Amino acid sequence: MQTEDTARLELHLVVFGRPQARLERHLEAGLRDAFSASGATTDVYLSHYAQIAGTLDEGRQQHSSGPFLHFLDVFNPNEPNSIKLGVIDEDLYSDSHPSLNFIFGEARVGGDSCVISTTRLDPRFYGLPHNERLFHARALKEAVHELGHVLGLAHCADAQCIMHFSNCIEDTDIKRAQPCDACAEKLRGCVKRRGKFRVTRAPGSGQGSRPCSS
Ligand SMILES: [Zn+2]
Ligand SMILES: [Zn+2]
Repeated sequence: MQTEDTARLELHLVVFGRPQARLERHLEAGLRDAFSASGATTDVYLSHYAQIAGTLDEGRQQHSSGPFLHFLDVFNPNEPNSIKLGVIDEDLYSDSHPSLNFIFGEARVGGDSCVISTTRLDPRFYGLPHNERLFHARALKEAVHELGHVLGLAHCADAQCIMHFSNCIEDTDIKRAQPCDACAEKLRGCVKRRGKFRVTRAPGSGQGSRPCSS
């Protein structure tokens, strides 16, 4: 039931390049529920766009996250309850944190846009057999993590909390798909105050960096 304490989030799930129908359905369903415990009812709107031209860095053989974030910054702008998640089937690096050798995702902290790359979430990237369930679970975790930043959360020291920094895929696998109690409490406050603290074009927060052997 909608109460005075229930915020309504309008989440735009924007898929760039190749459509990934099964993953999109998984994310749609998972993200609809992800913030309900925080007092937010989430409506998910799915759209597809062509890959943005000119994002490939030939030297790195990776795509820059910046143009995707810029695209999302001006996508349905100035709607206080609108948040945007870009899904990109390319390996990404962050122009604002170029020393990171890759990123799983990046967010406008306290803003309204974030992106995730699905490339390094697929077990086949690491030479392992296809495992759709694991791939989908990782993508949902990364999506919730980046959206957590958008809603105002910082990184958390609890290795099982969704807001823990993932330096490598093993870190993502250790995490639960939900925030710890402390982050859940903060998230409830963030969702409630969203209209007041939101800023535009805040510095990004990259995720992922050195290879990890753990
Ligand atoms: Zn936490
Ligand atoms: Zn992060």
